[in-house]
Order: sequence, then C-alpha cells, then structure tokens
Amino acid sequence: MKHRFTVTEKESEVQFRHVSQDLLTHNPRQGVNYWGGAEYPTMLVWAGRIYDFLRILEGIVGYHPARMQSYQVGYTSGWNGAEVSAGFPNDAPVNDGKVRLLSLGNSILSGAGWGRCEIEYDDATGSVRWEFSEGTAIGLAARQEGRRDKPACPFVAGFVAGWTNRSLGTKSEFQETECVSKGDARCVFESAEYLRPRAE
Ligand SMILES: [Zn+2]
Repeated sequence: MKHRFTVTEKESEVQFRHVSQDLLTHNPRQGVNYWGGAEYPTMLVWAGRIYDFLRILEGIVGYHPARMQSYQVGYTSGWNGAEVSAGFPNDAPVNDGKVRLLSLGNSILSGAGWGRCEIEYDDATGSVRWEFSEGTAIGLAARQEGRRDKPACPFVAGFVAGWTNRSLGTKSEFQETECVSKGDARCVFESAEYLRPRAE
C-alpha cells in the first residue's frame, strides 16, 4: 500500500504558526528559545549558514566527506525531531503510530520554514521518497550563490533519513537525486539501502 502525505499552501501557513510560534517557548532569563518541550535550546538560523557548513567543509576535505559529515549532523537533527514529535498527543493513531509519525515530518519541516514537501511511502517495498517541489530552504540559499554540480542539501538528506528511521523503525539511507542548486526544478530525496553500521 502506498501512503502519500502532502502539505497544502494553506496548511503550510497553519503549520508555520503552530511550529514556529506555538511550539516555541522563550526563556527570558537566558534569552533562549525551546521547542516542543525538548531540553535543547533552539535557534533561528539562516539556511545560507547551514549551506556554508557544507561549502566550507567541501573546501577543506572535498565533496564526499563533506557531504557525509553534513548528512550525519542532519541525521541526528531529524531523529531528535521525530523523537520529540513522538511525544505529541496522538490524535490519529495509524499503524501503531509509525506512519503517523512519518506523516508529521513534512508539516514540521514546512512549519519550521525548511521547505514544503510531499512524502511517499510504499509499505510493500519499504521505499520512501521526500519531494520538495520548490526546493529546500538550503537548496534555495545555495542557488543564490551560483549553480553547483553536486547537491547542496546533504543536511536535509540526513534529516529525512533520521526522521524516517525513527518513525518506521527502519535503517534506510537517503540520497538527493535532484536539487534546485544544480538547476533542477525541485529537491528530491530517495531511500537507499542501509550501507554503514551505526551505533543506535
Ligand atoms: Zn537540494
């Protein structure tokens, strides 16, 4: 069975208010924000600065290791995001909550300003696809700085991998097959076989 989760433009507006306003609390003594009850502080960060993380690493260690390191940071971010969201009220339990948790991923991303996407999950084959029809915020920031020949969004690839694996209990990796920074019309992330050992 194929599951498809979309976020309309109107839902994106609603999610922005929910994710970027209602779920944020401010600690005025620290001058620091917290999100969704998580213990880690949350900061507003320019997408261009997340892109810089990749670009600078590329200059130091080259394309492949830079992408992997960016991916790993994104992975933890996605895993933790799903972990926090798993504690939200379960108003529509589907498939033991796994698919429901997966389906929350795109509204959280959209509401946080990372890009509006559609998630497609085929539970027969296990394949998962996240498509940002307008590109991710990082891809759009990268495009401002000129066209690349490699995808700009390994951080997001890691994020969707972490979110998907935490939701479904799987061990998938994700590859970015299209990226707006390369001149493609959208950013697309597709699941691939799990290739590396990981401690969790
Ligand atoms: Zn991209």
